[in-house]
Amino acid sequence: MQLDPTADDLIFRESARVWLAENVPASDAPHEGQPARKYATDWVARCHSGGWSGLAWPEAHGGRGLSAARLIIWYEEYVRARAPSALDCTFVALNHAGPTLIACGTDEQKAFHLSRILEGRSIWCQGFSEPGSGSDLASLATVGKVDGEHLVVNGQKIWSSYADIADYQELLIRTEQGSQRHRGLSWVICDMSLPGITVRPIRNMAGVSHFAEIFYDDVRIPLSDVVGKVNDGWNVAMTTLGFERRTAAIALQLELSVKVEDLITLAEPATGTATAHLLADLRAEAAALRAMTYRTLLREPETPFDGSMMRLVFAELSQKIHRAAIDILGPEALVAGRWTHDYMESYSETIAGGTAEIQRNIIAERILGLPREARP
Ligand SMILES: Cc1cc2nc3c(=O)[nH]c(=O)nc-3n(C[C@H](O)[C@H](O)[C@H](O)COP(=O)(O)OP(=O)(O)OC[C@H]3O[C@@H](n4cnc5c(N)ncnc54)[C@H](O)[C@@H]3O)c2cc1C
Repeated sequence: MQLDPTADDLIFRESARVWLAENVPASDAPHEGQPARKYATDWVARCHSGGWSGLAWPEAHGGRGLSAARLIIWYEEYVRARAPSALDCTFVALNHAGPTLIACGTDEQKAFHLSRILEGRSIWCQGFSEPGSGSDLASLATVGKVDGEHLVVNGQKIWSSYADIADYQELLIRTEQGSQRHRGLSWVICDMSLPGITVRPIRNMAGVSHFAEIFYDDVRIPLSDVVGKVNDGWNVAMTTLGFERRTAAIALQLELSVKVEDLITLAEPATGTATAHLLADLRAEAAALRAMTYRTLLREPETPFDGSMMRLVFAELSQKIHRAAIDILGPEALVAGRWTHDYMESYSETIAGGTAEIQRNIIAERILGLPREARP
């Protein structure tokens, strides 16, 4: 594992720092709806015109094909410059829909979608979870029946982030009648403007509508929009989740260190011994997460389930930091930036992208080799 920067790394860091200093928007991102979409897509377009979009994507597909070491440098500068959160409505498209199309899509699908994503011209959402099929994704029941050159889709998805402002969806459906579990599924590109789709936003406890439930009534999706083979969607979905749980989260993990430093600055005047110890612990834990991120990304060969470890440590530390902020700042948290909003949002960290219990199961079974739990 090489952590010492080369001369070229230092030049790269400087160019990233200069570009970010000149281009990061002065205003905060709106929380939801079309204003949030405009802010995020303008930012991606600006990154693209500056050569800073699709940094992890292969050059052959319009990206920059950066090494893990360079990605880390970029994201270190990104969070230091307080650039817009990477977890906005462009996250799915840039971090897992695009990479999934690159890995499993047809030439036509790549030609149509990839440049739109990189330039901030299309927003994607993910339609995997259903009522009753979240952790147990393989039990999903939304169906697609082949009818000529189309799939006719009926059913319901839920918790689909940014579905109300998305152009396309990664849609996972059951296409083999009578199939069970992970067999007989297909991963489909769903155009969100198709007739028969109803999107109902859901408001969360922070008062924001980030996700939605979606109803599909005889929605006709061309078979040419199936990614990978019909009935082989589980393998494609695992590719998607692999991207979602890995490099995509670097910025979020590094952001936690910045939050701890912000909290230390804000808390300074009131710091007693107990608070100082708490803050010191949080700073050490954020540094440990950073080290874990570097180790995971720079290690060759990668191990496939490291993403679960990073996700779990990140999610639980994020909740601890936000809880501490509310305890330490008291009523001041209501006026000092976004602490109250981010505190309420942090509750979802141990649910989204796989709950903490599910990540622990993966770590136990796949990394530690403990006995598998009984499966339905
Ligand atoms: C902010 C946010 C954004 C999201 N965005 C999306 C999105 O864009 N697209 C999408 O498809 N989904 C999305 N989700 C849904 C998310 O993937 C699911 O909520 C998650 O997988 C859990 O599923 P569930 O809600 O059905 O809970 P359940 O699976 O019903 O779990 C309920 C509880 O039981 C526990 N549990 C379940 N099974 C086990 C087990 N085998 N062992 C131990 N404990 C278990 C869980 O840990 C949890 O505590 C989002 C969720 C959140 C909170």
